Amino acid sequence: MTLALGFALSGCVVAVGNNSPAPPPPAATNSKLAGMQYLYGSAEADAISRQAWNALVTYAADRVRHPPRDSVVLEPGATLDAPRFVSCTGKSPAAVFDVDETVLLNLGFEQDDLTGRADRAFPGRWSAWEQSDGHAVLPTPGAAAAIADLRTMGVTVIFNTNRDDSAGTARAIDAAGLGPAVHGDTLFVRIDTNTGDNKDARRWRIAERYCVIAMGGDQLGDFSDLFNGPASASERRARADGPRVAALWGRGWFVFPNPVYGKALKGSADDIFPADRRWHPTGEQ
Ligand SMILES: [Mg+2]
Repeated sequence: MTLALGFALSGCVVAVGNNSPAPPPPAATNSKLAGMQYLYGSAEADAISRQAWNALVTYAADRVRHPPRDSVVLEPGATLDAPRFVSCTGKSPAAVFDVDETVLLNLGFEQDDLTGRADRAFPGRWSAWEQSDGHAVLPTPGAAAAIADLRTMGVTVIFNTNRDDSAGTARAIDAAGLGPAVHGDTLFVRIDTNTGDNKDARRWRIAERYCVIAMGGDQLGDFSDLFNGPASASERRARADGPRVAALWGRGWFVFPNPVYGKALKGSADDIFPADRRWHPTGEQ
């Protein structure tokens, strides 16, 4: 409290014209905090989330008015360069969502993670979180209204998560105001198939029954297992940028921001910045 008050007061002094430099912002206490500031604290992440949900509802409404021939689930054997999609013939519309950091913000777990208690290391800590009462989650901004809108327009909302505990997951989804989620019907968890974190087998099970008109996720594996193979940061980016795949972002495949964890967080500075796109002031190396 004292620290916060100090910054607030010095901010006031600067605002009325004192020429002394403003104090630096408090440094991130560890590398996780910057991503958490963005995802759980910032207005910008709130806006991106709402942007994705708004676009998804608009897209889904159009698909309901003009039913597509094909779903947005890649068929077995398809590739990212030559995608083919599961047929929609004779099926009612559904939208498929990842859970964590797609429809739910795991505030309780992530705040606890900052404490760095070594004796509660992942995955034991995560298992305990999956079984918690759901009071420490929130829906992602825009999720509750969007999911309600989808259901109102006749789109079945289905959750496909890599959590293991179906009862705890349904409880958390309910607690966030996003339910119902019924295991085996509108909720699929990792242990439903023997494919580990790969979700295609569950997507195909869903797409057999429903015309999946939209999918949402914070990791590319929420759209296709073809993104999950070992790859450098630049290789992953190239997969997302391929001409057939690039056309799907915002048109059936909707991505939510997650700078806190996941496969996006990889690559050295040399991997991230191309050699021919580096710059320093003249005279510096
Ligand atoms: Mg997720």
